[in-house]
Amino acid sequence: MPLIACPECSKPVSDQAIICPNCGYPLHPNIKIFALKAVKSITEVSKNLFSCLFSMILLVVSIAILTFFSILAFKYFAVKYSLF
Ligand SMILES: [Zn+2]
Repeated sequence: MPLIACPECSKPVSDQAIICPNCGYPLHPNIKIFALKAVKSITEVSKNLFSCLFSMILLVVSIAILTFFSILAFKYFAVKYSLF
């Protein structure tokens, strides 16, 4: 387990270390890509969730509007043709 110098604080750290225990500098070359991918996937998921939620709200609102206008139309024609 050879020691390498941290590029940030130049203290000796293990070459197996993912981050520097002294300053937290990411030593593993893939850790930045991994973090970037994690952030990207979280953004993607939240974006999908938001669009799904938005379409659900749109559906509920359109059903409500449709129901409202059909009741209105039914009442109008009921009065017009004296169904009651
Ligand atoms: Zn360091």
